[in-house]
Amino acid sequence: MDAAIIAAGSEMLTPDRVDTNSLYLTDQLNAHGVEVVLKLVVGDHRARLVGAMRHALSEAHMLFVSGGLGPTEDDLTREAAAELCGRSLEFRQEICDAIEARFRRMNRKMAQVNKRQAYVIEGATLLPNARGTAPGQWVEFSGRHIVLLPGPPHEMKAMFEEQCLPRLEKLAPGLVIRTRLYRVAGMPESDLDQLIAPVYRNYVNPATTILAAAGDIQVHLRARCATAGEAEAMLKEVGDPIAELLGDRIYSSNGDPLEAVVGKLLRERAMTVCVAESCTGGMVAERITSVAGSSDYFAGGFLAYSYRAKNALLGIDPELLREYKAVSEPVARAMAVAALERSGATLSVSVTGVAGPGQGAETEPVGAVWVGVANADSCRVRRFQFAGDRQRIRSLAAQTALDMLRRCILEKALPRRDR
Ligand code: ATP
Ligand code: MG
Repeated sequence: MDAAIIAAGSEMLTPDRVDTNSLYLTDQLNAHGVEVVLKLVVGDHRARLVGAMRHALSEAHMLFVSGGLGPTEDDLTREAAAELCGRSLEFRQEICDAIEARFRRMNRKMAQVNKRQAYVIEGATLLPNARGTAPGQWVEFSGRHIVLLPGPPHEMKAMFEEQCLPRLEKLAPGLVIRTRLYRVAGMPESDLDQLIAPVYRNYVNPATTILAAAGDIQVHLRARCATAGEAEAMLKEVGDPIAELLGDRIYSSNGDPLEAVVGKLLRERAMTVCVAESCTGGMVAERITSVAGSSDYFAGGFLAYSYRAKNALLGIDPELLREYKAVSEPVARAMAVAALERSGATLSVSVTGVAGPGQGAETEPVGAVWVGVANADSCRVRRFQFAGDRQRIRSLAAQTALDMLRRCILEKALPRRDR
């Protein structure tokens, strides 16, 4: 079965508010085998709401509308749904009494406008609202289902779980959706697609989606089948060859971000890490410490941004800086080694690069980034060339530093450190 979702409310057409209700609903519906095929955000405008509902019902068997069940003039969902179905709205005294009683319990008097919430679409099933005043409504219309839910997320969620799920389980023909997710680092999106498209393009089910951010790609597989077993088998058929092609570029298969994966690896091995950052200005440390419990393995860091700070904080030889400049293999190496020695950590990672837009005093071009990873007896340094604006280059540098750290932890040993 397919569903559409409408988020009603002009505030969600402003730059300040996001429709999060539909994300929750999509997650819930998918878990119960219902595919969401259309989502719309519509302002508080009756004719547009009716038009959107009509369109949604032409695409899907079920329509969930959240918002616009409140008592004010701009709450038009009831009226719009009634108009669409060609049905009347009936005043129900018992709903009005219940709303009045709810206000009394809070030592308040019900305003006249709240009576609007006591109107029910002819033939609708009422969905009690345990956390607010407006009841939801479930309307069957031409073999389709229209479900009106309140806008406030805590009211909407409670109503969905308590009132809608039991009804849904009876309606949905037992389609099961199962998903797989691979998170990949260290690969441009186009290269990744070229590599795995020969596998996934032969299949409509599971559906494959690739989402890319700076240095971080997510490969989503979604299988829809009659049984969980079939869905899992389909995911395996397509997912396993994809995983094999991507190999160790996959850093997580459970949705964990890279910093959580690195943290887990460090903890498992009772290792600690220290950072020495230049162009990333603390982004690597920020990401590592965004994970709860990171004090178990994060030793601290050096924010050695200027030449002076590289010398003062890490003791980098001014001669070395003069000769090679800060964005260079020898300086990345010296930073990693000094950070390791000064912190007493088991591992260190250094980042030095040209984030741009200017090249400054460096000889390396904009986007050039050196990353170093050191342990007690070795140090690996690699050069990367990124493209994009300053923020993108910095994000890529931080992501790459974390990924290089991950790979070094996974390897048995780093190559010997030549000093
Ligand atoms: P109320 O009785 O509060 O007026 P309502 O059913 O009319 O309830 P709205 O007025 O549309 O709901 O929304 C109330 C509040 O709920 C909004 O200010 C907003 O904070 C939140 N809200 C509404 N719709 C959404 C949505 N789709 N995603 C996230 N939050 C939402
Ligand atoms: Mg409202």
